[in-house]
Amino acid sequence: MRQFLILLLLAPAIVQTQTPAYDLVLRGGRIVDGTASPWYRGDVAIKGDTIVAIAPSITAPASRVIELDGLVVAPGFIDIHTHARRGIFDVPTADNYVRQGVTTLIEGPDGGSPVPLRPFLEKVAATRISPNFASFVGQGSVRSAVMGEVDRAATPAELGKMRDLVRQGMEDGALGLSSGLFYVPGTFTPTAEVVELAKVAGSMGGIYISHMRDEAKGVLDSVRETITIGEQGGLPTQVTHHKVIGRKYWGRSSDTLRLIDEARARGVDATIDQYPYTASATSIGAALLPAWAQEGGRESTLKRLKDPATRAKIQVESAAIIRDERGGGDPKNVVVSSCQFDPSLAGKNLAEITQGRGLAVTIENAAETAMWIVEQGGAQGIFHAISEDDLQRILVHPATMIGSDGEVPIFGKNVPHPRSYGTFVRVLGVYVREKKLLSLEEAVRKMSAFPAQRLGLTDRGVIRQGMKADLAVFDPARVRDTATFEKPHSYAEGVSYVLVNGEVVFENGAMTAARPGRVLYGPATRQAPATNGASHEAHQAPSGSPVFESAGGSRLRMLLETPAVGGNEVEVGELTFAPNTDSGDHQHGATETFYILEGELEHIVNGKGTKLGPGMIGTVRPPDKVRHKTGPNGAKALVIWAPAGEAARVTSRWKRVG
Ligand SMILES: [Zn+2]
Repeated sequence: MRQFLILLLLAPAIVQTQTPAYDLVLRGGRIVDGTASPWYRGDVAIKGDTIVAIAPSITAPASRVIELDGLVVAPGFIDIHTHARRGIFDVPTADNYVRQGVTTLIEGPDGGSPVPLRPFLEKVAATRISPNFASFVGQGSVRSAVMGEVDRAATPAELGKMRDLVRQGMEDGALGLSSGLFYVPGTFTPTAEVVELAKVAGSMGGIYISHMRDEAKGVLDSVRETITIGEQGGLPTQVTHHKVIGRKYWGRSSDTLRLIDEARARGVDATIDQYPYTASATSIGAALLPAWAQEGGRESTLKRLKDPATRAKIQVESAAIIRDERGGGDPKNVVVSSCQFDPSLAGKNLAEITQGRGLAVTIENAAETAMWIVEQGGAQGIFHAISEDDLQRILVHPATMIGSDGEVPIFGKNVPHPRSYGTFVRVLGVYVREKKLLSLEEAVRKMSAFPAQRLGLTDRGVIRQGMKADLAVFDPARVRDTATFEKPHSYAEGVSYVLVNGEVVFENGAMTAARPGRVLYGPATRQAPATNGASHEAHQAPSGSPVFESAGGSRLRMLLETPAVGGNEVEVGELTFAPNTDSGDHQHGATETFYILEGELEHIVNGKGTKLGPGMIGTVRPPDKVRHKTGPNGAKALVIWAPAGEAARVTSRWKRVG
């Protein structure tokens, strides 16, 4: 049908100048390859962004050789649960993560993501960050966009709109659907409604990952619900940051893990992630006020708190939460981590704040203080209410991977949960080296190959020829976390080098200037969608203007122009929108998206240029006039266009000429 368009490129052969065989060789490391196999000694050679050789000894010339003298080389760690959009635009190097060996951050957890996702991912790509970045689409955000924060089931029309938004999120590049059924509005969502949305994500290759409805009294039912959603939704399902909150319920991880084992035994693909701390962190209001008091958003909450009878009711329920659940039985166990209305409260616990307000320190008065904090504008808090026994039991379970639930803090600002600075190295230092609960190889698997497999990141997470060179080099005898609840702004120790996409981003105790992080797009953008579109491999056309016909009848015209050669940059082709004169049935208005896979492009739209690197996106709207220039190594891009609900994609390669 319609369509027009297309592109570009061409270009004859490439002349390689004599360059060393490799860009970088890591020599003499102990390779812990991510699969949990025992470590082995070897050299790792990298060219561009890829691991190109692994051998006992690599002697071919390399631009740079780093002697490791027995340090461990592991795949860069993949953090499946982060809130990195808090901070990534302020600190694009994400030092707190990279210094732990983390090379990929996954956002959009707990049911919360930008909707739509694509502009956000484009913004991240344009920011030039050090680690890679990817996202889920959030059920809570989708529901909020369609229905607001109401406590009722969706109508069929609303459900239809939510399904569309989930589909859109997956097409925008989400890795799957996250939920936060503990939070408003997730908590108002019936299980069956989540299942319907999970089916959409699953049909497009995504997973379901959930901050469960209840991690305290109802933790067993919540694990059952998470399993059910995976089972009925027909997709992999994951309990995220698994824990058991509240002294009264400690020990129940034996039962939650049994439920996971039973589900797996009958074929449900259910897994877990966890951070290695006995305190959680979230907003004081969300954690300590009952969900019904938060329906309808902040204004409605404030109205309820003004009504004396309702306020009294909220106080009773909040006191119960402090006694038996998040409060850990003592107002001292709730500590403010950041507070906008009074930054001096950061670091103080609920007992101290209650006392400061002239009230006796009782659980009831602490509940009153929690309500007061919400009225003043709210605050983030840390909640010490998890047992070490549950933590360890969950950690050693083979279906558990590591995820921080952290963010990208501004160094020195506020008193955040130390998990942002310490999660991965804490596992290696405390639970591998000191407590010997896990082997080094098993711990690394939980941080690399396992999350990569979970997320369908097939070219990362394992040290193997052909994989992307995301690597963490560390000293297993020294690696450790230094961030504490009292002094959280403290970096990991014992990590020597971190590589992202083949570039060294951390060495000699400091971040480098390299910012090679890419946005990693999810399964629906990795394969052709199951629409009536088509997938084309656009072969380099020798000459002329060949036309490719898609299965759906749309036509792609390759417009080839003679390359102009000059300077450092070589102009190799032109992308032009043109009506498909063969069909006459064309339509403008579709947005073309270029997702750069390799190399660099200068993308010049109507005379205005933007530099695009791997993971970055350029968009074009007809009748834009577009030119591309590449750097010396050429560039490869995925070109996607979707007129009238139809999608097709072309992989194009721009190459250097001469
Ligand atoms: Zn969460």
